[in-house]
This record gives sequence, C-alpha cells and structure tokens, in this order.
Amino acid sequence: MHTNVWYVDENVDSEKVYPQVVEAAECLQRNEVVAFPTETVYGLGGNALSEEAVAKIFSAKGRPADNPLIVHVASRPHVEKLVSHIPKQADKLMNAFWPGPLTIVLPGGKSVASNVTAGLDTVAIRMPDHPVALALLKAANLPLAAPSANLSGKPSPTTAKHVIHDLSGRIAGIVDGGSTGVGLESTVVDCSGDHVTILRPGGVTKEQLEEVVGEVIIDPALSDEGQRPKSPGVKYKHYAPTAPVTLVDGSPSYLQSLVDKRRAEGKKIGVLATEESKATYRADVVIPCGTRADLISVANRLYDVLRQFDESDVDEIYSEMFTHEGVGAAVMNRLSKAASNRVIKE
Ligand code: AMP
Ligand code: MG
Repeated sequence: MHTNVWYVDENVDSEKVYPQVVEAAECLQRNEVVAFPTETVYGLGGNALSEEAVAKIFSAKGRPADNPLIVHVASRPHVEKLVSHIPKQADKLMNAFWPGPLTIVLPGGKSVASNVTAGLDTVAIRMPDHPVALALLKAANLPLAAPSANLSGKPSPTTAKHVIHDLSGRIAGIVDGGSTGVGLESTVVDCSGDHVTILRPGGVTKEQLEEVVGEVIIDPALSDEGQRPKSPGVKYKHYAPTAPVTLVDGSPSYLQSLVDKRRAEGKKIGVLATEESKATYRADVVIPCGTRADLISVANRLYDVLRQFDESDVDEIYSEMFTHEGVGAAVMNRLSKAASNRVIKE
C-alpha cells in the first residue's frame, strides 16, 4: 500500500480548512486509516463507527483484539452520541481538562463499532489538544478511534519519522505536523463506576485530578501484577526497545559498576542517563533523557530515546530511575514496562 504524507504546520488554525487536511479526512471517510499528531503522541486514526476501519487499525499495528481503543472527538455533542449518559464527575473532568491529555471511560459504548471497545460495555473518549488533530477531526466530522501509531509493543511515536519507520506501506497516510507535546500517552480515568479511578497514569497527574473531583483511586493492578487490570491494554509488554532494559535503583557509580562488569564480558552496553549525569558514564552508548530538574522534559524525550537505542546495536540497556511524584508516575510506568519490571537495587 502506498502511504501518503501530508505536511501541515503544527500551528494551524483548527477552525480553518486546509486542502491537505481535507484529503486526509476524505481518506478517513472512505474507512482508510491515517496517522496524525496529538499533544501526547501520534495516533493512528480510523472511523470509530466503522468495523471495517477499526479492523484496519488493529491489523496495521498488530494489536491484540482484546485491547480497546480510545475514541477521539472535537466537540461535546459527539460525546453525547456515543455514551448512555455523562456522569457528574466526568462532566467536571471534561470541563477542566478538555481539550487535553485525559481519556475518560464512560458508560455504554452506543453506536461505536463493536471492535472499538473489545466487547466492554464502556467506551474511552478524549478530546486532543492539538490544532492539527482538531482540524482533522472537524474536517472528517467523525469520531476517530486512535491508538498510538506504532507497531504493537514498540515505543509510541513522537515524530512522523517514527510513524513512517513502523507503519509505512501499512496505512493510507500520515499527517506530518512535527513532533508531539507531552510525549507520553494520556491519563486514562474510569468514570463509569462509583469512584474516579486512574487506569493508566499519563500527562494529567493524580493531584491535578483530585483538585477537580476530590479523592481519586489508582487501579491496584498498576502496582500488583497478581490483579487483573480494568484497562486491558495495561497488561501487555509495551514501549520496549529490542535490547533488554534494566532499571537501576541506585547511584550513577553503582550503575557504572554494572556497566563495567558486562562490558568486561564483551557486551555492548547502553545507558539511559540525564543531562545531569551523562558526562559521568563510560559505556558504548550514553543517551541523556531530559533533565531531572524538569520531569516533563524526561517524559518528552523518553520514547525517542528508547527508539535511538534500537538504532544503536547495544546488547543491553541500563537506565536511571525517576521519582513517582507528579508526571514521574507516568514516566516510571512506561520505563518499568520497557524493562519488563527488571530492577536492580544497590
Ligand atoms: P493506546 O491506544 O495504545 O494509548 O491504549 C489505550 C488504553 O486505553 C489501553 O490501555 C486500553 O486498554 C484503554 N482503554 C480503552 N478503552 C477502554 C475501556 N472501555 N475501559 C478500560 N480501558 C480502556
Ligand atoms: Mg499504544
């Protein structure tokens, strides 16, 4: 399949009509799938009302069929058509955080294609805060199911180049709107039950949510492997570069001692460092992932750094760890998955 690339300035006015965006929207209306930038990562969009379009998303990504998709909308009326009702807490969260990196699980997946929700009686919805995504949603005039635009299991794409690397030839097109903002996926909260529950940490923190709706629970399955997560996708290996990743809970000098040992055994070793520590390491590849002084910069860089390790030919990767506070919760959630939970303590 030929994959079209449409270049769109990341600062477009989402109220205006752009010929490239219209072409991409027409592809979506024909039930083809198209990747587009959002403020979190690139999404792979398809008409959420069409089983045929949604099936193409799953097959392009190689995504397991039991992992439901997030539906993206440009306006509240679109939400109302897709759910049985909007609970009060959900309404408050939409007013506070939309458009933005917050996905809300709502009761009753009315009218979306059945493969969007993987058979659940809820549907996950978000309004992205990116002018190109909003312009495309408006031009298509459809709710778009859109998981991250990567091959299943690989780090999510934060640039069009990442999408082309994974999906060129497998999808109808890519709207290239430069690099994305947050760099990590949205926070997923469940508002379909009695409590507001975080199913996946992301760009909006627990503290920010609590300011709006009071107590917020974290799905216990996020920290306990024995429990079945409410968000099916959370159980899969994710975000992983080819070389195995190990997290090091200790000082840079301890991390260095692990690297020295493996290099003495003939292995090529990569280190995921920070701007603060990068100069202290001796390894085959050292890549800084933002600065500790600003965790958002770490979130921003993470997937690109994991992909850069794939382009080097290291055998193993050792990574520093970060605080679980604030956006650190999302960073550590993704890093732990990239490492399949391997941690060495000093
Ligand atoms: P991705 O599209 O790769 O960012 O992943 C979407 C995340 O949202 C996955 O963890 C899904 O399991 C989760 N999700 C989507 N729909 C639902 C739903 N109805 N209930 C719970 N989790 C959902
Ligand atoms: Mg994903």
